[in-house]
Amino acid sequence: MSDSPKQGFDTLQIHAGAHPDPATGARQTPIYQTTSYVFRDADHAAKLFNLEEVGFIYSRLTNPTIAVLQDRMAALEGGVGAVCCSTGHAAQIMALFPLMGPGKNLIASTRLYGGTVTQFSQTIKRFGWEARFVDFDDTDALKAAIDDNTRAVFCESIANPGGYITDLDAISAITDEAGLPLIVDNTSATPYLCRPIEHGATLVVHSMTKYLTGNGTVMGGAIVDSGKFDWSASDKFPSLSQPEPAYHGMKFHETFGPMAFTFHGIAIGLRDLGMTLNPQAAHYTLMGIETLSLRMKRHVENAEKVATWLENDDRVEYVTYAGLKSSPYYDRVARICPKGAGGLFTFAVKGGYDACVKLVDALDIFSHVANLGDTRSLVIHTASTTHRQLTAEQLEAAGAGPNVVRISIGIEDPDDLIADLDQALTKACG
Ligand SMILES: *Cc1c(COP(=O)(O)O)cnc(C)c1O
Repeated sequence: MSDSPKQGFDTLQIHAGAHPDPATGARQTPIYQTTSYVFRDADHAAKLFNLEEVGFIYSRLTNPTIAVLQDRMAALEGGVGAVCCSTGHAAQIMALFPLMGPGKNLIASTRLYGGTVTQFSQTIKRFGWEARFVDFDDTDALKAAIDDNTRAVFCESIANPGGYITDLDAISAITDEAGLPLIVDNTSATPYLCRPIEHGATLVVHSMTKYLTGNGTVMGGAIVDSGKFDWSASDKFPSLSQPEPAYHGMKFHETFGPMAFTFHGIAIGLRDLGMTLNPQAAHYTLMGIETLSLRMKRHVENAEKVATWLENDDRVEYVTYAGLKSSPYYDRVARICPKGAGGLFTFAVKGGYDACVKLVDALDIFSHVANLGDTRSLVIHTASTTHRQLTAEQLEAAGAGPNVVRISIGIEDPDDLIADLDQALTKACG
């Protein structure tokens, strides 16, 4: 079947990129558990290595199971191509790698997944890259942070640990003006709830570990390219616009046009950084994506019910769910993620740090884990775990203060989730 972009999301999540297996007719995408592929002849091998013909060489670069997942991710996000890799964190490095260089900086939102704050504020310094953190509601501060060495702007659509929606339209207006790519981490929203490319994103990154696979089984990451950025408009992106010595001086943008970033991600990124996804993980993720819209609808419905209940409970100080009318970001939901504000949010418990620790121990259905975006409901006390490496200032900026608990609402019966929270709050708050 054709992968017409006119097809609806529910059709694309099942069919995009997949075809009956040409060798066996297998309807489900086989797990191509192979490291390498036999060349037709020496000439075929040479063409593949020169990127003159697209095909399979070695599974560090390309694999047919992963290729289906890449095409499906591109279709769901409305991009021209995608590169899958081993984890969400790998996807972030893979997205930045062709853009950055020693002495270059990226501007990142203060509201990010805790691991991303650590990756950006600490680890990337080893590459000579700098991240500047800015409150993305303060667009003047964002503009002021951009300088001649800025190469990317990075934010999350629905930001972890929850309750904040980035005004992607306002941010992309600034990146367009500055001639910079906007990278949006769409993990918490998924392409079902938010399509960042329609709001001006250049690249969309994902941790497929979360909602896309959906049941907490495998790790994975993806970078989807909008194909809309002109890498040759300035001299800022030489990896994409200038001759590449490893491919006989070929220029990726000139040769591959809108597919330049995707080809570079595979031919240089995966080849040399080696953060490759494995075909088993791609299979689990493809299985998960087939039911993405059904699950996301239920995650949103359940989150709305649980957040509303929590907001009306005396033991709870506040709930930051953008799907609640009380949220300052409620108006952005209709524009940025019209099908709902996701399944992830935080709430603050009266009784502070100690009550939060008791609460997570007393919950029964909710599992105390570092993951999110699972079919089952999950809870974590961010200040003592995922955001532990952050300073007090970073904790507040990330919305992860000491009395804050993050929950990822699953697709169980919502009444059972509410009953579980009720009994645990009683134990936590006395
Ligand atoms: C989990 C997560 C990541 C990191 O993904 P991994 O697959 O764990 O490497 C990045 N961003 C967000 C928003 C996440 O939730």
